[in-house]
Amino acid sequence: MFIPVEKLKKYALAFGVELDNTALERFDTYGRLLAEWNGKINLTAITDPDGIALKHFADSLSVLKYCEIPQGASLIDVGTGAGFPGLALLIARPDIRLTLLDSTKKKLTVIEDILKNIGLEAVLLHSRAEEAGQNRQYREKFDFATARAVANLRELAEYCLPFVKQGGSFISMKAAKAGEELSGAEKAISALGGKTERTHKFELFEAGERNIIIIKKISPTNGKYPRPSAKIAKNPLE
Ligand code: SAM
Repeated sequence: MFIPVEKLKKYALAFGVELDNTALERFDTYGRLLAEWNGKINLTAITDPDGIALKHFADSLSVLKYCEIPQGASLIDVGTGAGFPGLALLIARPDIRLTLLDSTKKKLTVIEDILKNIGLEAVLLHSRAEEAGQNRQYREKFDFATARAVANLRELAEYCLPFVKQGGSFISMKAAKAGEELSGAEKAISALGGKTERTHKFELFEAGERNIIIIKKISPTNGKYPRPSAKIAKNPLE
């Protein structure tokens, strides 16, 4: 095995997730391919098997402890990069109808290869979030949107909330100082039809503090959002 699967099994159990042998084998293949691809394309600074198991896989699975995702729910992972948290969630929960969005084509090429090797399916969407969020095919079509390490929450809310159906949730994964970021984003969240439901602060074992912010979509997002990238960057909602 490439990754420490017994450790991963324990981390997952601590988040209430039982990984069977198929899931563990898939995670192992994912970890191995991630390290291999990382030699060709810069995907992640974390390349050691322990680091991948803890800081990528277990971190992604923490979502399942703090947010109930019903069977067959649709989820879009915005700025998925090498598949976090979206692809890791799919391995644990193959019933999820997953869309992985990233503006960098080569990252999606890697994900395509990983999906083929682990025998799972997801929709791969090569687009900027601000553009896909204005496309009727994707706008307000998802039960959940997730994002980790993509942008400041104020901008991220504008990227992610337009994808979420009324009654659905945007799940933002942050490391430390999430409280400060959230205070600066509250007005933007509300302007986009969202309402912060709760923040879960926890320790990702020896990797330190993590936060999961759950933002509920309580009303439709005004058609003027998301704005073009340059406007969001120059004039974030506040
Ligand atoms: N979510 C992954 C993780 O936690 O490992 C990747 C994080 S990486 C630091 C940020 C990713 O977001 C990159 O792959 C980048 O291409 C993508 N990204 C940044 N801004 C984006 C946007 N506006 N629309 C789509 N993708 C974006």
